[in-house]
Amino acid sequence: MIVVLKPGVPEEKRDRLIEWLQSMGMKIHLSVGEYQTIIGLIGDSSNIDVDLIESLDIVDSVKVVTETFKQVNRKFHPDDSIIEVGDVKVGGGNFCLIAGPCSVENESQIVEVAKAVKAAGANMLRGGAFKPRTSPYDFQGLRGEGLELLKIARAETGLPIVTELMSATDIPLFEDVDVIQVGARNMQNFDLLKELGSVKKPILLKRGLANTLKELLMSAEYIMASGNENVILCERGIRTYSDYLRNTLDLAAVPMLHELTHLPVIVDPSHATGIARMVPPMALAAAACGADGIMIEVHNDPQHALCDGAQSLRPEVYADLVKKINAVREVVK
Ligand code: PEP
Ligand code: MN
Repeated sequence: MIVVLKPGVPEEKRDRLIEWLQSMGMKIHLSVGEYQTIIGLIGDSSNIDVDLIESLDIVDSVKVVTETFKQVNRKFHPDDSIIEVGDVKVGGGNFCLIAGPCSVENESQIVEVAKAVKAAGANMLRGGAFKPRTSPYDFQGLRGEGLELLKIARAETGLPIVTELMSATDIPLFEDVDVIQVGARNMQNFDLLKELGSVKKPILLKRGLANTLKELLMSAEYIMASGNENVILCERGIRTYSDYLRNTLDLAAVPMLHELTHLPVIVDPSHATGIARMVPPMALAAAACGADGIMIEVHNDPQHALCDGAQSLRPEVYADLVKKINAVREVVK
């Protein structure tokens, strides 16, 4: 349920209403927007007398939120959420360009790629240290050492680092990471999501391989309900009948998610297609449909990459693509 207040309600009257609602056992989510203040009620609201609240002089209207996702819901928070990653903002018209290799391989690789993507215009560096590989015999990532190499690349470039966490037991290692990625395979690892609620840093939550938008939103709700409001959603392609492509990039998810939620939505065309030459057209399409950012795999030597070389762009291709992404954004803004 949400309670929309009339414009210009004094804070003490608002707070008195909030206290009363809390005394009825409701958890409150307050959204003070430019034009509207909304009190979101989370919990069992069956004992709340809607007519009584609606009759209060400070209340404009009361609406029942039927969706199971509450804090993630745009009805609870009509303005776009802006997630801050150091000086970089994501959402609400702020666009992010995240780029880097699938996995961190060694110091010169990650530093070289970091410098190249920064020069191209990227404002965050990605790189996996803990890799969720389909085969246990494939390169599993440099783990803790990979995180240290990412920090070296951050020190060299000033780019905030985005890297995947697979297990809650590794959270202490991620203390100095700027954005924690939850990969597609862990989107419904609910214990992990709950643990990330108490980590007060931005979480990049990727859509699962075969998950609906509602399931993605419910996973974001887990993180928010556990206390962390800093969630960025990522569409990275889903399993369909695709034969020549790694996945199917569901771009309609972007405007639909923007309707349903206030959280930023970015697109990963690399894992969506699996083929480097498919990445630029899909990245441009993502920019055109209103994504709040694009995450792309870039490698300085894709042929010898330890992971996902086939979908990785060379730095010069990425640099050219960024110019085109910016041009598309100019047209559609
Ligand atoms: C990745 O970003 O490196 C990754 C493994 O992506 P996904 O979880 O989307 O497969
Ligand atoms: Mn990858």
